[in-house]
Amino acid sequence: MGVDQKPDPNAIETVTIVPARRLISEEENAFWPTHQGAFLTTRIADIGHWGQANSIWPALFGLACCAIEMMAMSASRWDVARFGSEVFRASPRQSDLMIVAGRLSVKMAPILRQVYDQMPDPKWVISMGACASTGGVFNNYAIVQGVDQIVPVDVYVPGCPPTPDMLMYGFTMLQDKIKQGIPPASDQWLSGRGV
Ligand code: SF4
Repeated sequence: MGVDQKPDPNAIETVTIVPARRLISEEENAFWPTHQGAFLTTRIADIGHWGQANSIWPALFGLACCAIEMMAMSASRWDVARFGSEVFRASPRQSDLMIVAGRLSVKMAPILRQVYDQMPDPKWVISMGACASTGGVFNNYAIVQGVDQIVPVDVYVPGCPPTPDMLMYGFTMLQDKIKQGIPPASDQWLSGRGV
């Protein structure tokens, strides 16, 4: 492959991963003189998805009471750092997940969209709570009746408010989607409903 050619992410490539624990025979040791162990094969794309799913950095976007539960998720009792996502960024340019936590007013909607647009691709959105997903009890002209009218949503977390562990469950569902190579909702949204 020339230096100006892009690698094909779906090409079957073999990547050698050598764990240190497995004991090997003298014969194998002669073949792998510097390594102690076996190898496995995978695809470059799968390694990329694995890395993305385990290093999702959320953007700060708390709008109402649900945000308190979101903050609790990153504190010591629930500790979202176990999933690689403890780094809540104040800059959208360093984030790849927007958690919309709370009701979204019509006045705030353009700002939410602007922050979303400033996040680099690929990016994902979790709609947290009844208000973000449907307007909740605020069925009036001032509140957007579902943030999916403004940004494409990947995972909806129900509840009023959802508990931190509910949000974490939604978060691990998003990780599963990424690991399976399911494209972000933004891809489908742009090609389907239009923005
Ligand atoms: S869903 Fe409940 S807790 Fe969350 S913002 Fe709405 S009223 Fe507050």
